Amino acid sequence: MERVSLNEVDRWMSPAQSKRSLSNALGAEHLAVNHYILEPGESFGFGYHRHADQEELFYVLEGTATFETEEGDVTVSAEEAIRFAPGEWQLGRNETDERVVALALGAPAETGETDIRRLCPDCGERQLVRIEPTADRDALVAICEECGAETVRHS
Ligand SMILES: [Zn+2]
Repeated sequence: MERVSLNEVDRWMSPAQSKRSLSNALGAEHLAVNHYILEPGESFGFGYHRHADQEELFYVLEGTATFETEEGDVTVSAEEAIRFAPGEWQLGRNETDERVVALALGAPAETGETDIRRLCPDCGERQLVRIEPTADRDALVAICEECGAETVRHS
């Protein structure tokens, strides 16, 4: 048995104001559980993405998240949930003026290959990006696979 309190869990670098891995803190082996707090304008992930092997479910505890999906934008409010199958493209954002608090649950814990697309300012279109830590490991950057431009940086 393992037990943890959210305020004991370290915050990870991400596009969200707060991302904490409860599954990591609990030593979970087959399930990823992340707690997110999104301020207005923030998103769960670095870009529109898909995980090859992992299904992902988001349960909103507070506020309203807007998910870009293959079927258009879908809003998910408190006490609602959304599920993406492995291979489905998605990105959840906070487009409101209130904060969003949500749990993301993924299984299996390993995502498999993940494709991420972001608007590259240099290319002028959405491109595949890779996420890398900076040299001093104080932030994560999304690098355009096409031209090498840094498209965003989050600490
Ligand atoms: Zn580019």
